[in-house]
Amino acid sequence: MNVKKEKCLKENRVSLVVSVYNEELSLEAFYDCTQKVLADCGWDYEIIFVNDGSEDGSLAVMKSFAKKNSRVKIIDFSRNFGHEAAMIAGIDYATGNGIICMDADLQHPPEAIPDILAKFEEGYEVVSMIRVKNEDAGFIKRITSRAFYKVLNMLSPVKFENNSSDFFALSDKVADVLRNHYRERVRYLRGYVQSIGFRKTTLDFEAGPRKAGESKYDLKKLLIFSVNAICSFSDLPLKLGIYSGCAVGLLGIILMIYTIVNKIFFDVPGGYSTIIVALCFMFAVTLFVIGIIGEYISILFAETKDRPIYIVRDVIKEEEEYDCKTGDSKSREQGGKA
Ligand code: UDP
Ligand code: MG
Repeated sequence: MNVKKEKCLKENRVSLVVSVYNEELSLEAFYDCTQKVLADCGWDYEIIFVNDGSEDGSLAVMKSFAKKNSRVKIIDFSRNFGHEAAMIAGIDYATGNGIICMDADLQHPPEAIPDILAKFEEGYEVVSMIRVKNEDAGFIKRITSRAFYKVLNMLSPVKFENNSSDFFALSDKVADVLRNHYRERVRYLRGYVQSIGFRKTTLDFEAGPRKAGESKYDLKKLLIFSVNAICSFSDLPLKLGIYSGCAVGLLGIILMIYTIVNKIFFDVPGGYSTIIVALCFMFAVTLFVIGIIGEYISILFAETKDRPIYIVRDVIKEEEEYDCKTGDSKSREQGGKA
């Protein structure tokens, strides 16, 4: 083993977080493949399987891995809490200085792991994997996925990568921010990963077909997921009241001018128009008041989410040297000049 590799093994440890829900048919192939890649990657590693309340034999299969490999850890949930909860738990329990989240069905290719580790070695702290092809997605899933990113990017001040996935990698520093500050119940984990800052990069990958079994995300689950993502990153829907109140108020003013002009110059009777103008103003006031309530709720929402006001990557300060004779502390540079 060369010196560089030995150094890496001491310093670098990658934690692979794998969420598992009824994947007994894929797990063997997944483990064989990832274990081989990890053994050759030059980093120390651990594989954290999060069993998200599987009802099939997944847990027994994972236990058999743990028995033969002490680098395998299993977090066993009491019931099904969902994919994102499983990833969050995996990140919480990870001990590596690099963390990679991926699915257990081999749609996230383990062959990409060395490229991710190379990005960590280059100094990147967040690696988002962009799905350029999804062999399992049908026409409807592809269309809805594209529409989802369009709507999300339209409504949210944060800009998200199209086709980002739950295949991503974080440094331990980034993971610490997630562990300490992003503990929301209604959440969009991929969104946090992309909006958290730090040195970011992307890598493309092609999602092959599922190794075995079926997708756990039906259209209903995807709809709930999309609504949660939008609500988690946009308060624009809460402001609709203000905007529609303004629009209806403006319409009332235009109608009022039109009615007055008609009355004065053309002597058109204005009874019917007057009712519509009055209605417009009443609706404008009602919608405006709803909008103001929405504004307050949006502030409350932001406060309860309790997201960090700022996130520090590093505090940079020159190290000081202590002068034994005088008892003074000097910065390195000053010390050098003296
Ligand atoms: N998964 C999970 N909990 C769930 C649903 C899914 O841990 O409630 C896991 C699942 O075992 C897989 C990953 O999340 O490892 C992605 O799920 P799936 O392949 O069904 O999603 P798709 O790739 O179809 O979007
Ligand atoms: Mg899948």
